[in-house]
Amino acid sequence: MNNYSLPTKQAPVAQRTAVYLDHHATTPVDPRVAEVAIRMMVEEFGNANGVENIHGEHAASAVAEARDKVARLLRAEPDDVYFTSGSTEAIQLAISHSIATHHSPLKIAVSRVEHKAVIDTALRAERLGLAAVTWIEVDEKARLDRSGYKRVLQTGIDLVCVMAANNEVGTIYPVDEIVREAHEHGANVLIDATQAVGRMPIDLEELNAAYVVLSGHKIYSPKGIGALVSPVFERASVFGLQGAHHPTPNVSGIAALGSACELMELEGEAESRRLSQLRDLLQQRLLHLVPGLVVNGDEAARLPHNLHVSAPGALNDVVLSHLRGKVSISTGSACNTGAQEPSHVLRAMRLPHSRIDSCLRMGLGRTTTASDIELAAVQIAQAIHDVRTAFSEDIDV
Ligand code: PLP
Repeated sequence: MNNYSLPTKQAPVAQRTAVYLDHHATTPVDPRVAEVAIRMMVEEFGNANGVENIHGEHAASAVAEARDKVARLLRAEPDDVYFTSGSTEAIQLAISHSIATHHSPLKIAVSRVEHKAVIDTALRAERLGLAAVTWIEVDEKARLDRSGYKRVLQTGIDLVCVMAANNEVGTIYPVDEIVREAHEHGANVLIDATQAVGRMPIDLEELNAAYVVLSGHKIYSPKGIGALVSPVFERASVFGLQGAHHPTPNVSGIAALGSACELMELEGEAESRRLSQLRDLLQQRLLHLVPGLVVNGDEAARLPHNLHVSAPGALNDVVLSHLRGKVSISTGSACNTGAQEPSHVLRAMRLPHSRIDSCLRMGLGRTTTASDIELAAVQIAQAIHDVRTAFSEDIDV
């Protein structure tokens, strides 16, 4: 029997001791999930497509079991779960499928605060003449403009793209009403549930959305695995030739995703309650310690592990550099090259530049403790204070 103890090589000290509050960017793999992944790689390594022997059979049944677990968390049908490399690929497949099964160009309505994975895909399709994009506006809390949405639907939309919850400011969207209204106008809906899965209830049996996407690395499973959950999707419609041969499934990633979904189903609700209390504590401490701090997003409907603030007068990239090695947080708006750009979400909310330039996103997670919160609050407040002081001294010179 193998012993799965982790190799002794450890991350650099600064990385080990820094408080990690960037769980919207990615989450550490839960050791219970890692154990499943390692077992599948080392012991149950068979080819899930090659079910001619017991190794293949075991791998195939692990994939089927994982499909059941993903489906159970979302109250979906197991046959509707398609494994992908993550949410980006799932989004691209969903939009490609919608294009392939509608008259061209596909009329897509996209909320202004969608993740770039949705926005860039829709815009690329538009540039290729395959789609025509209409924007759904939001208000200053990133809530959907519901009367604007109704007007957009009346223009004959084929596909609506709305996220279940925003990855920057955490605002939660009423996806049940959004889907119902879309269906009344004959439109399908793509729900990007990447940040929401396991952190708020999602019931696809009730929602009946055409496409829902999720990503393993946001829910304590390894990177490079995710899923498109769709009762309408067919690979062959997208690529024509796909489906002719089934690639060898990433069995360890798939089994890990299944295990992560199972843990979310068992623990997600209690964990969300715990994290929202810690988040409220962090918010309280920062409001107390930082003059002029403002909370962004919709405090009445917000992801439990999200806190997004602005500290006008303290440029966020300078604050982040002061926090390097102490507290890992982010602006939330870094693009996929890692470059920071003014957040398209905050611009859609029409926040003033002073709030956009000074925004900071904190994402709490499974390993976050009350003492992390105390420490992080003090460090973040100190960094903001130092940046403001340095900046005002520069102005005095
Ligand atoms: N959608 C949202 C809301 C996200 O937060 C992310 C990742 O940050 C993505 C999509 C892309 O996910 P992935 O990294 O799995 O491609």
